[in-house]
Amino acid sequence: MDTKLDPSRDDLPLMANTSHILVKHYVLDLDVDFESQIIEGTIVLFFESGNRFQKQSGSTKEPCRSESNEACRFRMPEPCHSPVTDTRTFSSKTRSNDFTICGKGEKDTSGKDGNHDNWEQASGISSSKYCCDTGNHGSEDFLLVLDCCDLSVLKVEEVDVAAVPGIEKLTRSPKLTVVSEELRNQIVCELVTLPADRWREQLDYYARCSQAPGCGELLFDTDTWSLQIRKTGAQTATDFPHAIRIRYSTKPQGRSVTWTSDQSGRPCVYTMGSPINNRALFPCQEPPVAMSTWQATVRAAASFVVLMSGENSAKPTQLREGCSSWHYYVTMPMPASTFTIAVGSWTEMKPETCSSNDLAAERSLSPSEADFRYVGICGHMEYPCRFQNPSATTQEIIPHRVFAPVCLKAACQETLLQLVPPCLSAAHRVLGTHPFSRLDILIVPGNFPSLGMASPHIIFLSQSVLTGNSHLCGTRLCHEIAHAWFGLAIGARDWTEEWLSEGFATHLEDVFWAKAQQLDPHEAQEQQELKACLRWCRLQDEVRNSPEEMQVLRPNKEKTGHVSDSGSSVVKHGLNPEKVFMQVHYLKGYFLLRFLAQRLGDDTYFAFLRKFVHTFHGQLILSQDFLQMLLENIPEEKRLELSVENIFRDWLESSGIPQPLQRERQAGAECGLARQVSVEVEKWIRMNRRPRKRKRRETEQVFEKVRHRWCELIIKHKYTKAYKDVERFLQEDQAMGIYLYGELMVSEDSRQQQVARRCFELTKEQMDRSSAQVVAEMLF
Ligand SMILES: [Zn+2]
Repeated sequence: MDTKLDPSRDDLPLMANTSHILVKHYVLDLDVDFESQIIEGTIVLFFESGNRFQKQSGSTKEPCRSESNEACRFRMPEPCHSPVTDTRTFSSKTRSNDFTICGKGEKDTSGKDGNHDNWEQASGISSSKYCCDTGNHGSEDFLLVLDCCDLSVLKVEEVDVAAVPGIEKLTRSPKLTVVSEELRNQIVCELVTLPADRWREQLDYYARCSQAPGCGELLFDTDTWSLQIRKTGAQTATDFPHAIRIRYSTKPQGRSVTWTSDQSGRPCVYTMGSPINNRALFPCQEPPVAMSTWQATVRAAASFVVLMSGENSAKPTQLREGCSSWHYYVTMPMPASTFTIAVGSWTEMKPETCSSNDLAAERSLSPSEADFRYVGICGHMEYPCRFQNPSATTQEIIPHRVFAPVCLKAACQETLLQLVPPCLSAAHRVLGTHPFSRLDILIVPGNFPSLGMASPHIIFLSQSVLTGNSHLCGTRLCHEIAHAWFGLAIGARDWTEEWLSEGFATHLEDVFWAKAQQLDPHEAQEQQELKACLRWCRLQDEVRNSPEEMQVLRPNKEKTGHVSDSGSSVVKHGLNPEKVFMQVHYLKGYFLLRFLAQRLGDDTYFAFLRKFVHTFHGQLILSQDFLQMLLENIPEEKRLELSVENIFRDWLESSGIPQPLQRERQAGAECGLARQVSVEVEKWIRMNRRPRKRKRRETEQVFEKVRHRWCELIIKHKYTKAYKDVERFLQEDQAMGIYLYGELMVSEDSRQQQVARRCFELTKEQMDRSSAQVVAEMLF
């Protein structure tokens, strides 16, 4: 398939000026309306700026942000240091006139995807336009830039936090006699820096402040990618109001949320892991450096369940007739992009009986294998951390709930429910402390574009993992559980280094799953070797069929993690619809980690990994943070020729198959593919000879694999009688079926092409945008 790479369209801009001011906490107050497919309400943002922010950001290791000293130069209007060459001059007068004071703020410039004019303008904005604006013109107002897209912003105002009863306790002055901007900002400043052990009080103040009256509307403007806010006369980030409230609503076609129906035919809405993350759900600071906490109150009709990234297992509060409200919060600061919400008529699934099964169950009271010597050393900014709580560190299985449409109850009971405890426990045995205190798992609607997605406190799983035996479900669950550590508790500072979450989760899923099945070391090794063979084939295939520049794991090279003076940046290929279907980052990352684990030996590698987690949880990392620490921690004799530089060169900065991997696979190929195949065949024969209790499962496992393969064979041999099966697969397993469209088209058989087009017609409305785009390119 030809890829049309258009850098101006494929790259995703992150607009927020996080070098000047940082959101520390969001309070969302929203109503979900299924009639109009709109989420509407307010968001209150609490900021930190100036010296205090400097100190904090200095405490997290930031070797690559030399620009951050920009933050202490607020008061000196800087000439423009634009990363984007922009020769246009901006008439600041016109710009000023563009600003609206409330009311008609909704200037729909969201445009269409392919609107290049809008795009150009938007990406040119980042730091140049407004920076120039400030420099060239009499008005030197500070401009707050938030990431925002497909939202109708109705009103922006400053919040009078000084009006909250009892708030004076936070300030040094006993009575609030003269209320000034400075005093209000001082209150917010005290509030956002309350010590971690006062988190309850802090959340309560946040909630009360969020409801305080407004004290002046702020000027705002929107364009394709951002919301810009200023206050007349507030010339620096320090002077800018530190608590602001934005009234807004989402749009039905907004790209952050999907409105659809569940498998029982009832309406639901969920965040879909869109490339634009949450900016069509709420205005926010998207760059990962803006780590914040949040709390949210969401109202919906009483028949709906509201699930969200929150550390409390929320229950509904009945409001007026037919309506209920759900409240969630987190106390661990995380990037706003990790927030997830799902609202639908789902049922909580519970085990039919407390049956014991042959997988490792909750029973284990024995001390964990994990090494807890590092308890107490936390490198992150202050928050109530589970790694410092002895009872949390030994908790093998965190509290969890499973939600699904009622029609999938039997399937959940047969496979998923009994897998959750052993998979959680296995993860704890490998990595130690669960970074999150609880977990919800949701079976998402059929149009969900992948097999799973992990967010703080919530995992989405595709219904496709429920069919057949436990293997697919177990490995996928393990993969998503691994993201709690890699991807969430430890995030990538630069989103182009996706392997830091996907490579780790792919490598760890095998390790967790082997433990969850209680395989002996030999069986585990055998299973993992088989997986490696399959992934090797897949990687070779993908490397042959994808653009070279998208096969590089660290595309920004030494510039990785760099941002403009304002904090804005661009995520390379962030909007390329094909990227979603590429697994290069998963696979090459996986093979690198497998290579390192083999070099060190499993015991040494996993002991190191636990130490790494203790050092870096709650922080953002770059590839070098991991590799440097790894190499420092391994004995000379095992390090051999390994260095950060040659790992970069061989694995992370080259396209195609990494040389060391190629060599390893060739060395193993003296008996070649034949050996691998015969090993595999022998294994199946052996398994089939084993009668015993697992018999039924294995038959199903075979059947399930066959179901997948069956469709391929039908297409290959043009077995028209069974085209119905292909159609069913394409409609029910959208997460797995995308590639079958390709198979159907490739043969240039008109009947097969008809099948493809018919299925696409039936499902395209529910399909997510990227999938639909990719399939459409194959079909037309
Ligand atoms: Zn910690």
